[in-house]
Amino acid sequence: MEKYSKVMKTDPLVIEWDYNLNYIHSYAQDSKFFVYLGRGIILGSECKKCNYRYGTYRKYCMFCGSETYDIELPLEGKIHSFTTCYYAGEDFINEVPYTLILVEFKNINSLFMSRLVNKENKRVEIGMEVKAKFKKLQKFNVNDVYFLPA
Ligand SMILES: [Zn+2]
Repeated sequence: MEKYSKVMKTDPLVIEWDYNLNYIHSYAQDSKFFVYLGRGIILGSECKKCNYRYGTYRKYCMFCGSETYDIELPLEGKIHSFTTCYYAGEDFINEVPYTLILVEFKNINSLFMSRLVNKENKRVEIGMEVKAKFKKLQKFNVNDVYFLPA
């Protein structure tokens, strides 16, 4: 039987207890992408056979199934589309509302999803120029990179 630490209410019964979990996660074939974010590099992929250039890192081409090789994505691009998020996970709870963007890079065939940090409250528009910024304290997740208005 679980131990509870505190009864919050009795009708209906609401209790509170500590919940800790150590989560072990392997990035497997995507590991290099996350390691390189700490070096200030966003890796994409290019298909060895059909030369499709992916803005999202992947080991195999989704069109022809061939292996890809790594490419460095540009650190500047433009907003292809965006949305404003009014609910957030733990990492952004203090930044709500925040803006998610799909970044379009020159000579890259697919888009890169990231977050726009817009402290100067510039008007966000499709086609707006943005530049990548990397967190100083790497956490090995997709939030290690975000974008600023260029
Ligand atoms: Zn291909």
